[in-house]
Amino acid sequence: MQIKVLGCSGGIGDGRQTTSFLIDDDILIDAGSGVTLLSRAALARINHIFITHTHLDHILGLPLLLDTVAGDRQGPVFLHAIPEVLEILKDHLFNWRIWPDFSRIPSVDEPFMCYAPVPLGQTFRLADADGGVREITPIPAHHVVPTAGYHLRGPIGSLLFSGDTNSHPVLWELAALIPNLLHLVVECSFGNEQRLVANASRHYHPTELATDLAGLAVGPKVWITHLKPGAEADIMSELHAEIGLIAAHDVQALMQGQVLKI
Ligand SMILES: [Zn+2]
Ligand SMILES: [Zn+2]
Repeated sequence: MQIKVLGCSGGIGDGRQTTSFLIDDDILIDAGSGVTLLSRAALARINHIFITHTHLDHILGLPLLLDTVAGDRQGPVFLHAIPEVLEILKDHLFNWRIWPDFSRIPSVDEPFMCYAPVPLGQTFRLADADGGVREITPIPAHHVVPTAGYHLRGPIGSLLFSGDTNSHPVLWELAALIPNLLHLVVECSFGNEQRLVANASRHYHPTELATDLAGLAVGPKVWITHLKPGAEADIMSELHAEIGLIAAHDVQALMQGQVLKI
């Protein structure tokens, strides 16, 4: 199972793209501006899209993706998220006023898109091209709107993605329990100077994240995502200073274009 980072920035500018991960060639986790890097052919191969939450930086590529591939595909694109997230998308995005309701066109019986809710903790299984099983499970997160992170499990191990969140114990309890946790992708949006903004918008800042990381007994590679544009180096320096030099080599900024395998 291959995870390619199409976008992982907290914003845009100078080539930065917002959150979207391509799993193999047929699944997306979030549909931020990173999806705009894909070719039309690659966009048309995406059968399943899992959304963490409805903030624009995680969904802005979604309506245009659907519109672009609708005529090129044989079957619908399945849109997965926790039920609360899908309700917001129905009410506020695919409502004909912002974008057409792709779950009803060209017809209710054969739509371009199907809503496919996945409650927290419920595992969605998909075969890969070689007959292996890929598992995707929404996990709790703590953000200002209904939000999930995701636990991805492939043939050789697991990846945990925090989604947008600040401190919440469940992520770390899960991380400690998952056998073969190879990668932890966790956000740290703001530097310590902006801790009030981070707290109000429920994002991590280095001191808070370092405290949680210190309690992690298992040793996955830790990848920091959703860094504020322009502040990436400062946030990573603050984080490395807090966690200490010994741990710092295993805590790195996630990079656009990077590929992780599980
Ligand atoms: Zn958010
Ligand atoms: Zn975000």
